[in-house]
Amino acid sequence: MPELPEVETIRSSLAKKIIGRVIVKIRVLSPKQFLGSTGSIQGFRIAGLDRHGKVMTWKLTLGDQTIYLVIHLKMSGRFSFHKDPHTRIQIELDDGTTLYFVDPRRLGWMRVTDRPDVIDTPDAISEKFTQKHLQRVLSKTKRDIKTALLNQKAVAGIGNIYANEALFEAGIHPLRPANNLTKDEVVRLFQAIKTVLHEGIHQKGTSKSFVYRLPDGSKGNYQNHTRVYGREGETCNRCSEKIRRISHAGRSSWVCERCQK
Ligand SMILES: [Zn+2]
Repeated sequence: MPELPEVETIRSSLAKKIIGRVIVKIRVLSPKQFLGSTGSIQGFRIAGLDRHGKVMTWKLTLGDQTIYLVIHLKMSGRFSFHKDPHTRIQIELDDGTTLYFVDPRRLGWMRVTDRPDVIDTPDAISEKFTQKHLQRVLSKTKRDIKTALLNQKAVAGIGNIYANEALFEAGIHPLRPANNLTKDEVVRLFQAIKTVLHEGIHQKGTSKSFVYRLPDGSKGNYQNHTRVYGREGETCNRCSEKIRRISHAGRSSWVCERCQK
């Protein structure tokens, strides 16, 4: 699933190309993935692209009217400027380009709304996500720390890739109960989350276990820089131990049993 760095990369790449453009026509090939009336956004100018966690919001204006297109890529959604057999929604712009919403698994969606969603959960790279907030949400759950980090109601934007990376960076075992971390460990984990998410953005996301691509069709590069994610059997960067893949709560975790306690 695209996580914060992937959605942010898509957002910033799209912003350079489509801000200021007018939506001429929307063609929906998979009706359940477009919520609202396509006619209601035709003729609107794309005024801005925001992101909160894994959710992207386009601000659309026409005269003094402002509406929003909220987009969730879910498991396999992406945008492409090239035709693709898995296209579900086609957006034609006034400069003659067509933007394709591609989604092999058909779980992503777009929704037209008059007002942007109000989300209380802080975005993981925003200033609202603080050490105090992390401490508070972790102290409330006995679940393992890996599962706790994936909870989008606790902090928005972290998925399996960057949770594994942050836990290694902080030296914390993914199966530790969340409410059992020491204050020092929470401090380390908070810093590690920011570090790995910014690295992910810098590398333009991770093109490994799903079909994530940038809108121009190129791949992200973070898969070549992961500490543990997807590296089972390889040697830990910090010690000579082999990285193990463990299965827990229906997901894989990658761990160095020597570095992560
Ligand atoms: Zn190690």
